[in-house]
Amino acid sequence: MDYRTRILHTGKDRDPHTGASSIPICQASTFAQDDPLVFGQYEYARGSNPTRDALEHTVAVLEGGSHGFAFSSGMAAISSVLLLLKTGDHIVVGEDVYGGTYRVLTKLFNRWGLRHTFADISTADRVRAVIEPETKAIFVETPSNPTLKITDLAGIVEVAREKGLLTIIDNTFMSPFLQRPIELGFDTVIHSATKFLGGHSDLIAGVVAVKDKELAHRLKAIQNTFGAILGPQDSWLLMRGIKTLAARMEVQQRGAMKIASWLSGNPLIARVYYPGLETHPGREVHERQASGPGAVVSFELLTVEAAHAFMRSVTLPLLAVSLGGVESILSYPATMSHASVPPGERQARGITDSLVRLSVGLEDPDDLIADFGQALKKAAGGR
Ligand SMILES: *Cc1c(COP(=O)(O)O)cnc(C)c1O
Repeated sequence: MDYRTRILHTGKDRDPHTGASSIPICQASTFAQDDPLVFGQYEYARGSNPTRDALEHTVAVLEGGSHGFAFSSGMAAISSVLLLLKTGDHIVVGEDVYGGTYRVLTKLFNRWGLRHTFADISTADRVRAVIEPETKAIFVETPSNPTLKITDLAGIVEVAREKGLLTIIDNTFMSPFLQRPIELGFDTVIHSATKFLGGHSDLIAGVVAVKDKELAHRLKAIQNTFGAILGPQDSWLLMRGIKTLAARMEVQQRGAMKIASWLSGNPLIARVYYPGLETHPGREVHERQASGPGAVVSFELLTVEAAHAFMRSVTLPLLAVSLGGVESILSYPATMSHASVPPGERQARGITDSLVRLSVGLEDPDDLIADFGQALKKAAGGR
């Protein structure tokens, strides 16, 4: 069956007891047992709950894994996965991962003796160069945030297999509709489900998918012990969002392509980052491992002042943190997603103060282009 069909007919897509077309929200913390010695399928809802169960099953189907896990946020998912490691271990991390991932490693996990190296790991040779004897895992994001830099996933898998390392990817920007890393040999796939999976800017959630049974067993124990689980209401809402993932991604991606092309021909734009553009570095690698460029476009204006004026003058996109919603969202990495990355490091990674990031929604792209056109004119006039 086609992916679009599989993600709707997951095997846990209707209520087994009533036939209801959506899995009911099971708002219970505990489940009565018939026998004090032999527990039923459900026991206490931190461990599992029928609504979260159905979502977790869906997540496994989405990513082609054997097990899915739902957490209270993308950061809870990332942190829970990092708990697979221990004091003294070392992790290699792509240099331009999400700001929150940077923060949790440099401010929290470092205090417990988990060492990290941020590096350009876009090719197998670059990964090899930063592996240490205590390296246990590689964490990557591709396309990266916000400069959409491409990392060769096959290269990471190659080195990880040589050295016996755990591979972890934050797949938020692509969604499983466009990129399924488990099929490429990755062990662990994480999403901030707040973004494209939820898709409606009305939910904070994180999910993880894995294929290996033993890894699933360890993660299940961490999820139940650490306890950063997603509640039944939000589990239901996330399943509801996932049902339209394919339809949303296709339309949003088409809009992003049109807008990126328009931006790259505009003299008031200094630079456009989008893996769908001919000129994007790493485009060929991206096309090998993903089925489309996605719906996030970053671009740089000619000056910092112009960037500020542009953001103040647009009327259609939400000027906000986040991405992946049905409405377009414009954000300013310097003060929003990447505020926790020190300014010097930000500059070195191309996250200048004139860079903005656009998550394209379901609006007509021509309406967005018209709005950007008027905002750019205002921004240029104000210089
Ligand atoms: C938003 C985001 C996160 C964090 O997710 P939350 O749901 O906000 O906790 C992690 N990674 C990426 C790429 C993100 O965009």
